[in-house]
Amino acid sequence: MLTVRGARVAAMCAGLLALSLTATACGQEAVGGSRYKSHDNKGGTIGIAMPTKSSERWIADGKNMAKQFRQAGYKTDLQYGEDDVRSQVAQLENMIAKGHKLLVIAPINGSALTDVLKRAHDANIPVISYDRLILGTKNVDFYATFDNFKVGVLQAQYIVDRLGLPKGRKGPFNIELFAGSSDDNNTRYFFNGAMSVFKPYLERKELIVRSGQTKMNQLTTDKWSGSAAQDRMEDLLNKAYSNRDVDAVLSPYDGMSIGILSALKGVGYGTKSKPYPIVTGQDAELASVKSILRGQQTQTIYKDTRKLAKATVQMADAELTGGTPEVNDRKSYHNGQRTVPTFLLNPVSIDKSNTQILVDQGYYTASQLK
Ligand code: BGC
Repeated sequence: MLTVRGARVAAMCAGLLALSLTATACGQEAVGGSRYKSHDNKGGTIGIAMPTKSSERWIADGKNMAKQFRQAGYKTDLQYGEDDVRSQVAQLENMIAKGHKLLVIAPINGSALTDVLKRAHDANIPVISYDRLILGTKNVDFYATFDNFKVGVLQAQYIVDRLGLPKGRKGPFNIELFAGSSDDNNTRYFFNGAMSVFKPYLERKELIVRSGQTKMNQLTTDKWSGSAAQDRMEDLLNKAYSNRDVDAVLSPYDGMSIGILSALKGVGYGTKSKPYPIVTGQDAELASVKSILRGQQTQTIYKDTRKLAKATVQMADAELTGGTPEVNDRKSYHNGQRTVPTFLLNPVSIDKSNTQILVDQGYYTASQLK
């Protein structure tokens, strides 16, 4: 709908065009208010800053984006920060200095990019926050991610369903909780989503955390490290489970789940008389899907990185060519400075019964899962 102001601007633009003056500001208004002046960016370079190659998913994210941006007519500069905040900032500074047209950033530390993004803004470079929200700056234009709260809900719902709690089994069942890296904004969404499901069962003592560690700051895992998760699980097993079994472990990420399973194996889980507890995960990484098929890890969350890349490329291309980036959530993700317009995708729970989805959708080939 054309507002009164919009109509006035349109009339003014028509006048400007008739005088063949530059009409960029008018174009912006007409297409929904992009704050960037140039719409002639095809063929330009997109800077893609990913957090680490230590996890398969980020390698796939980078590859998918590079491919899809190329198909949309852009060049790409793909960099990995290897979980080092200063490296990521230096990579971004470099991209700005080279005059890249747009930055796509999955931050290592969501709060550490304020200064560098001020520079991007001053150089008129739009920024898309990728998967993880960049915090504390107005200079982030869009966010593309999966529904992070729902990821936690799906993990926790899987655990309570498998334990039979909603169907009336009372337990009590022993559970231990893990959370992701404290500098990643997603961590609290995953955790809060999971706790929204666990809360009534914890209150009724149908679920018991024997270690007593239930606050997020007791559970976080720096840089999502699998070996740190293994160490903490070994410690928990030592201190709280020398004379009882643990029935379920909430793990927010596949790499951590593999570490947790090693700790469990180390004290004798994984046999007929002492089966593994339910262990969740996230990302449907190959090692974890195979582990699920072998009856070790129990569940993971599939987040199709090709779809996330597609949503991102769509936003970027629209922003760079004077179109309207498509978003479907304008209220959930406030970064401390602004509510960032977001494209949210749907995560899917995977266990032994439905790994075929991954093959059917071409995420893995059947032979990769053998
Ligand atoms: C992502 C997860 C991933 C985790 C560790 C989070 O920000 O959303 O998909 O498991 O980082 O890499």
